[in-house]
Amino acid sequence: MIKKLLIANRGEIALRIVRACKQLGIETVGVYSTADENLMHLKFVDEAVCIGKPNANQSYLNIPAILTACEVTGADAIHPGYGFLSENAEFAEAVEEAGITFVGPHPDHIRLMGDKVSAIRAMMQAGVPTVAGSEGAVTLHNADEQAQRIGFPILIKASAGGGGRGMRVVDRIEQLAEQVRIAKSEAEQWFGDDAIYMEKYLQNPRHIEVQVLGDGNGRAIHLYDRDCSLQRRHQKVVEEAPAPDIPDDVREPILQACVSACEQIGYRGAGTFEFLFENGKFYFIEMNTRVQVEHPVTEMVTGIDVVVEQLKIASGYGLSYRQDEISVHGHAIECRINAENPTTFMPSPGTVMQFFAPAGAGVRFDSHLYPNYAIPTFYDSLIGKLVCHGQNRTQAIAKCRHALDELVITGIQTNVPLHRDVILTDTDFIAQAQNIHYLETVLLAPPSRS
Ligand code: ADP
Repeated sequence: MIKKLLIANRGEIALRIVRACKQLGIETVGVYSTADENLMHLKFVDEAVCIGKPNANQSYLNIPAILTACEVTGADAIHPGYGFLSENAEFAEAVEEAGITFVGPHPDHIRLMGDKVSAIRAMMQAGVPTVAGSEGAVTLHNADEQAQRIGFPILIKASAGGGGRGMRVVDRIEQLAEQVRIAKSEAEQWFGDDAIYMEKYLQNPRHIEVQVLGDGNGRAIHLYDRDCSLQRRHQKVVEEAPAPDIPDDVREPILQACVSACEQIGYRGAGTFEFLFENGKFYFIEMNTRVQVEHPVTEMVTGIDVVVEQLKIASGYGLSYRQDEISVHGHAIECRINAENPTTFMPSPGTVMQFFAPAGAGVRFDSHLYPNYAIPTFYDSLIGKLVCHGQNRTQAIAKCRHALDELVITGIQTNVPLHRDVILTDTDFIAQAQNIHYLETVLLAPPSRS
């Protein structure tokens, strides 16, 4: 078993990883930037090392600083969490070359899935259905021909993209050249790689994803699915498990396809296959080779601790469960709580005055907040995740609403009103899962003037 784990992350996920380590008797090393010395998880780790300045490039993205922290503390493994270096193949490689265990997949698989074009190609080969898309590199010269073959509207995406950024919908051929030019320069600026590709723009899909675990030796299992369709600017706001209203004969082949894709490549650790689901069909869009923000909804319905499993797999223990031992019980909903203005969505960092987390049966609040904690301006605005489990979807939604009534966060602005007063009280959302545009075009749409 891993003896001492360095957590190369911050915030709620760092605390989440500390908890899993304690359960397994693994010692922990926290790292932090000079803006982060008051992080909650640093109060619970065995050792803490400052790795640099507030700017993530000088701390949480600084590979030599993190490797040095490992050396100084004698940590024998690194968990990258999500974001930061979690999907950086060079980092995973450097970690392994230093003789340290990387809690994640083989660097080759991070690289394969990190380039979305190669990921889509690999999935097609493994028999997973994909969205109709471009073939080979999209250039200014062949964009017209590629787009016409796919059919408008199309979506331009960055091959190295992520975080919902850099996507452009193009409705008409007259707009194409201009949009390709902009997309390329944005991709270069944000991801350091100007490669782009095109996909058919699906009009009203849902976002459904499959959680998998692989042992790295050709065995893999799935932990069923999640629906993450409530999004703003392609970023998830509410997630749930299992994905509602999917007939078993449609769901089962997709779950199996994900497992066999992992088995074919010998995938190691936790991963997520993301799909769009429209008119009864699944279309693969990308794979995330790390633990995801929304993993707790899967934990609530399966009873399996995804982070504990990541640590066991990285320690060489293989998978703790057979597929036939895994089943879904009830329903779980997660609300992402952000420090932001609920109307403008501008980040709202500052000092938390009062903090009270909701609790009770089936209520989980993963957060690093505490009273008088000053949220730094430098990082993501996610400050907590409310996850509620109920016997069914209606109960899980109601429980989330009640839990949000209990939640107290003062001193900063949060998006709690959006969850409590807009999403979780919307009769159409309560009645059934909605598509990826619903939050923006219906719930957040300005009232129409008649
Ligand atoms: P990222 O890695 O930046 O998150 P994804 O490829 O996972 O990008 O897509 C993020 C979101 O963008 C999806 O959940 C969906 O809402 C939307 N999206 C992606 N591809 C398409 C498509 N072909 N048609 C319509 N919407 C899409």
